[in-house]
Amino acid sequence: MTDIPPSHPRYLSLITRERLVEMVHRGIASEAGLIAHGRGEAYDYLIGERTNDFAEKAERAAVASLLLAEHPVISINGNAAALSGKELIELGRETGSLLEVNLFHRTGERVERITEYLISLGAKHILGPEPDARIPGLDHARALCHKDGIYSADVVLVPLEDGDRAQALKKMGKKVITIDLNPLSRTARAADITIVDNIIRAIPNMVSLAKEMKKTAEEELQKIIDSYDNEHILRSALEEIGRAVDRL
Ligand code: ATP
Ligand code: MG
Repeated sequence: MTDIPPSHPRYLSLITRERLVEMVHRGIASEAGLIAHGRGEAYDYLIGERTNDFAEKAERAAVASLLLAEHPVISINGNAAALSGKELIELGRETGSLLEVNLFHRTGERVERITEYLISLGAKHILGPEPDARIPGLDHARALCHKDGIYSADVVLVPLEDGDRAQALKKMGKKVITIDLNPLSRTARAADITIVDNIIRAIPNMVSLAKEMKKTAEEELQKIIDSYDNEHILRSALEEIGRAVDRL
């Protein structure tokens, strides 16, 4: 990796980029993933590169939903594995969610590499390499999934997801949670819970919340979910972007 001094004002953003580039070389993230990350970074600037209230509320509702689900599944793509692999495994453990590798630019080889990478980080069980079901309405490779995983999940966390697949999962009747810095993306608008936050902040926050909230009574968790309003959350994120002018 190149030498980036920790004193550089954009240190975190720069080392995150370096990490993603390295993960492309290792065959874990895709080249297109670099472009998707750049789009995310632009929105992160606009929301002040911090976990705002609207994100914190969504993270809380998301954790409550995973904890109360019958069959929660966390979908992991190249960027998610590259940026938050270790923390996603921990979130799976704390919420009792299965992990499934699911790629937009799917190749069998990259699914294998990501699976091996997650196992090297301590994951016990990863779905993905041997898909045996299809998400209706999507073209061939993007539709592939596991019957015991995403296909039969009642709640799915799909960070950094594509709009088409998020909509297809919604149509299957699932509760869809996403992490997406762009509050206007089709994914952000299709999801039941949209966390407008950088995945590198959102997942560690959700791990802490899960540790705390798994001791909370089910009725309390249900109240958090019932009082959650995603349209309000998306509006709040856009209002925050509007307030960027005040930071000049
Ligand atoms: P959609 O298909 O939902 O309309 P899109 O085509 O604009 O969105 P995709 O490339 O399909 O974008 O999905 C990537 C999404 O992930 C983008 O909306 C981007 O803002 C978001 N994103 C990228 N990097 C991060 C990150 N580190 N944290 C959170 N969100 C991110
Ligand atoms: Mg897309």
